[in-house]
Amino acid sequence: MCALHLHRHRKDYILVEAAGRVGGRVWTDFQDGFLLDRGFQVYLDSYDQGIPYLDLTKLDVGYFSTGAYIQGSSGRSYFGDPLREPSSLLSTLISSAASPLDKWKLFRLAQSLKQKSDEEIWSAPEVPTAAFLRSLGFSQKVQHGFLAPFFGGVFLDDSLGVSSRLFQFLYKRFALGRACLPRQGMAAIPQQLFRQLDPQRILLHQQVAGLEGCEIKTESGMKLRGRHVLCAMDQPSAFSLMGWRLEKTHSRSTRVYYFATEENPFLDRPALLLNGNPEGPIRHMSFPSLVQPSYAPTGWHLVSVTTRNDISGHVTEMNEKTIALKAGEAFDINTHHWNFLRSYHVLHGLPIMASMSGPGFMEIREGVWLAGDYLTYPSINGAFQSANQLASHLLAD
Ligand SMILES: Cc1cc2nc3c(=O)[nH]c(=O)nc-3n(C[C@H](O)[C@H](O)[C@H](O)COP(=O)(O)OP(=O)(O)OC[C@H]3O[C@@H](n4cnc5c(N)ncnc54)[C@H](O)[C@@H]3O)c2cc1C
Repeated sequence: MCALHLHRHRKDYILVEAAGRVGGRVWTDFQDGFLLDRGFQVYLDSYDQGIPYLDLTKLDVGYFSTGAYIQGSSGRSYFGDPLREPSSLLSTLISSAASPLDKWKLFRLAQSLKQKSDEEIWSAPEVPTAAFLRSLGFSQKVQHGFLAPFFGGVFLDDSLGVSSRLFQFLYKRFALGRACLPRQGMAAIPQQLFRQLDPQRILLHQQVAGLEGCEIKTESGMKLRGRHVLCAMDQPSAFSLMGWRLEKTHSRSTRVYYFATEENPFLDRPALLLNGNPEGPIRHMSFPSLVQPSYAPTGWHLVSVTTRNDISGHVTEMNEKTIALKAGEAFDINTHHWNFLRSYHVLHGLPIMASMSGPGFMEIREGVWLAGDYLTYPSINGAFQSANQLASHLLAD
C-alpha cells in the first residue's frame, strides 16, 4: 500500500515490488464467483490520509451498518449508534451487552474523542487499551462482551494489550465514519492507486536482496541507483534486509475461513456478528455479500469467519468442518449447508508495536528512507500517513 502511494508524488521513480502484483497486505482473490479478501479487512470512510488520492464513489463502496450484533449468554442483540442510525435506538437500549452506565460511557467517550485532534490523541498518555478502559470505569461485562470482541478483531489481539492511543484514534474514526468494502473487493483500493502510476515504472517479481549506499540489488541480479531509496516494505521484510539497524518486532497473525451458502442469513442489517462469549475459537463472523452483493454470485451469500488467537498470540488451527460447527454453536445458527471455499492464514497481519506516537518515517542512513504502517500505526490509514509524511519531507527538501 504505502509504496504505491509514495510514488504518486514523483515522476522520476522506479517502484520495485517483490510480489507479482501490487497492494501488499490489501488484496482480494476471485474464486468461483466469490470475492475473498485476504483476511477480514475493511476501509473506514473517515480515514483522512487517502482522501486526495482515493475516490470512494468510483470504488462503489458498500457500507456496514454503524453497530454490530453481539451474541451473548442471553442471545443476540444489535448494538448500534442511534445518533446515526436512529432505527437502532430500541435494540441498543435494551441490549444486554452493556449496562446503561456502560452505554452512557461509550457514548460520552465517542463524543469527547470526536472533539479531540489526532495530535492530542497521539500525544496522550499511553497504556494498554484494557487498562485504559478499566481506568474509565467500564465494567468487565462490556469489556468482554463488546469491546474485546470488536477491538480484538481490529487489533488482532483479544487481550487488548495494544496502545490506548491507537484505540482512541480508531474509536474516533468509527464514531465519525463507517466501515465499507469496495465493489471489486479490498484489492480495488491499491488498484486505484496503481492506475495513477506509470506502469512502465513498476517492476514486479523483483525482490530487493541488498542495499549499498543508494543502490539496490534485486534477487535476479538487477542493480538500480537513485538519489533516494524509499523502502516501503512490511516490518519483517525491512528487518531481514536491514536488521543491523532496526529493532526486531513481532507480528500479530490472523486466520479467516470463507464459506458459501444459498441460505439467506436473515439479518436485518449488514453488520458484523461478534462473539460476546469469551470461550471458543470464533472471534467474529460476517456476511460480506450483505454489505456488497458483488462478493457472491447471484443467489449465494459469502460467510467470513475469523478465529481468535490463543494465549500466546498464535492463530487457532482447526479444520473447516470444526470451524463451521463452532460458528454454528457460537451464533446459534445452522451451518450444515455451508460449503467451504478457502481459508487464509496471514502470518504478518499487523506489527506489534511497543509504542505509537502517530506519524512516522525513518532515515536509516543517508538517502535511505523507511516508511510503512510499523512506523505510524497498523492500518491502511497508517500506511498512507507514513507515505504522506515522507513524501512531504523529501519534496520540501
Ligand atoms: C488480515 C488483515 C486485516 C487487516 N484489516 C485492516 C482493516 O480492516 N483496516 C485497516 O485499515 N487495515 C487493516 N489491515 C492492516 C493494513 O492492511 C496494513 O496496515 C497496510 O496494508 C500496511 O501497508 P504497508 O504498505 O505498510 O505494508 P504492506 O501492505 O505489507 O506492503 C509491503 C510491500 O512491500 C513488498 N516487499 C516486501 N519486501 C520486499 C522486498 N525485499 N523487495 C521488494 N518488495 C518487497 C511486499 O510484497 C508488499 O507489497 C489488515 C491487515 C491484515 C493482514
